[in-house]
Amino acid sequence: MKKHQPAYLKSHSDGTLAKKLAAANARLQHCDLCPRRCLVNRQAGEKGFCGAGADLKISSYNAHFGEEPPISGTHGSGTIFFTGCNLRCVFCQNYPISQLGHGQPFTVRELADIMLELKKRKCHNLNLVTGAIYLPQILSALELAIKEGFDLPLVYNCSGYESLDALELLDGIVDIYLPDAKYNDPRMSKKYSQSADYPEINKLALKEMYRQVGDLILDEEGLAVRGLIIRHLVLPENIAGSEQVLEFIAKEISAQTFLSLMAQYHPAHLASNFPELSRRLTKPEYERVVDKLHELELDNGWCQEL
Ligand code: SF4
Repeated sequence: MKKHQPAYLKSHSDGTLAKKLAAANARLQHCDLCPRRCLVNRQAGEKGFCGAGADLKISSYNAHFGEEPPISGTHGSGTIFFTGCNLRCVFCQNYPISQLGHGQPFTVRELADIMLELKKRKCHNLNLVTGAIYLPQILSALELAIKEGFDLPLVYNCSGYESLDALELLDGIVDIYLPDAKYNDPRMSKKYSQSADYPEINKLALKEMYRQVGDLILDEEGLAVRGLIIRHLVLPENIAGSEQVLEFIAKEISAQTFLSLMAQYHPAHLASNFPELSRRLTKPEYERVVDKLHELELDNGWCQEL
């Protein structure tokens, strides 16, 4: 069986990775690595909206078995949870990591060692969770790890609030994009995630990710080797605008898109301050979205049980 070669190996050998790394590093001095464009000098220790400064911070890393089947496989997805996030969702389940800064500083060398360790543990891929804010450090560590034999497919697991400039730096580096599509309505994304421009930015980002990697490709064992998987968390009271989000995906991305529809919402973090978010989904609420999924013939992917 011919082993799939991750995109970044070619970018490493032809010098593209080194150029992207230099471009990413330069951006830390006036940080615009994400759509917030805080323009702070992170190299001097200043912090922007995401809370990330000069140090690379990681909350945890492990073989993770809770991802979609082609990502987790049988040996798990080598997942690294980076500290910080460029959104502030009031219902975030990981808020100690994303919003309270829980995690430890790591050097680039240590990050490269984590990558190599996850490969040694036979993980199927490297899964970077909210990596956008540490893009320079990630590219730098990847370069070190490649020189020592690292060759796992790279999964970019994100909120979907990504700038086109940053995605351009990931073109030819990322194999599998795993973004969220969280909202359709700017009033909702502003109220619950402090980002009025989320729907607009997210749509552009999804299109660019699809342009780069296309529909999901699986190998003979059913593991993801390249492509796009979009996650959508259904929220109570139609806050996510689920039906419109699905329509956008079916009509403007691809009807072959692998979609991961999630029903797991529960009121975490600050959600109980909002009566409309203070409960789980009802069966009719979720079924309406599942019906829409079928109506649009978005047949690839997974629907969580309620
Ligand atoms: S990565 Fe952080 S500091 Fe940089 S623009 Fe985004 S939120 Fe601001």
